[in-house]
Amino acid sequence: MKFGIDMGHNAPPDIGASGIAKEDNLTKAVGTRVIAKLEALGHIAVNCNPRWASSVLDSVRKRVQTANASRVNVYVSIHFNAFNGRANGTEIYAVSSAARRLAQPVLENITRLGFFNRGVKNGSHLYVLKNTYMPAILIECCFIDSRRDMDLYNTERMANAIVKGLTGQNPPGGDSGQDSGSSKPEPNPQVLKLQKALNRLQVTDKNGRRLVDDGLWGSATESATLKFHSIMGINAPGRASAQTWKAIDDIFEKPILRPNHATGKAVRYIQYRVGSEIDGVYGPNTAKAVMQFQNKNHVTIDGIIGPQSWSKLIG
Ligand SMILES: [Zn+2]
Repeated sequence: MKFGIDMGHNAPPDIGASGIAKEDNLTKAVGTRVIAKLEALGHIAVNCNPRWASSVLDSVRKRVQTANASRVNVYVSIHFNAFNGRANGTEIYAVSSAARRLAQPVLENITRLGFFNRGVKNGSHLYVLKNTYMPAILIECCFIDSRRDMDLYNTERMANAIVKGLTGQNPPGGDSGQDSGSSKPEPNPQVLKLQKALNRLQVTDKNGRRLVDDGLWGSATESATLKFHSIMGINAPGRASAQTWKAIDDIFEKPILRPNHATGKAVRYIQYRVGSEIDGVYGPNTAKAVMQFQNKNHVTIDGIIGPQSWSKLIG
């Protein structure tokens, strides 16, 4: 089979969306791997991206021309979605019924990785789908502005799912065979950042252990995140959200906390560490527990959380 692969955008002024990640970087990363994997399976993969473009229309026109002139059997345009930070999942656009049949297994393989299935949709408004001669699909892999999707996202697994969906074959390399989701996972920078933050905060997993900072989402990281949420009074599942990061930032700012003056996330954190009741208000009971902590750690016993106490708490 001969595939035309279009890595969305990457031709200024044709630039993709940005969120937690930049669409251009991800379409290029996934597309490059899809091409290599198709070739490794014995297919021909034509890179349809233009070297340059004078306008967005010029950019999409060149992609279509390359696909049509190369007489590829199938055209695949790779994109990432962005909306309001809350929308998530995978959708694929197609126009003809042949393209819809092509889209379905690709969608199934991607959603098997854990992404929400938003369905195969009518893409008659999309230039590259309307103007290519062969069955053509446009994949919106997931949402780059969704924390959930970006925590789940992994370039290698996404590329494997697309190739498996397109060919029915298991891409070689790191994949034991049965399932495109079983390839060796790649560390996720956001998960890694979260694990390091929780370790620094001494928030342990459900077995009281420090997290392994490997960038991989698992039950230990999830349970530590849940614990952190409960300390912070955040009513959310065990995935990091904007609220989680805001609370982490509030603590890492190391504000000076005085009895009867302080409230908020940093106070909740101190209460967790010194073992007083967690209500987010720095009252007399918290001050008593703080002084015990200061005594034990050989810093000035004044009930004030300042640089000395912070250095004992989170270094
Ligand atoms: Zn796009």
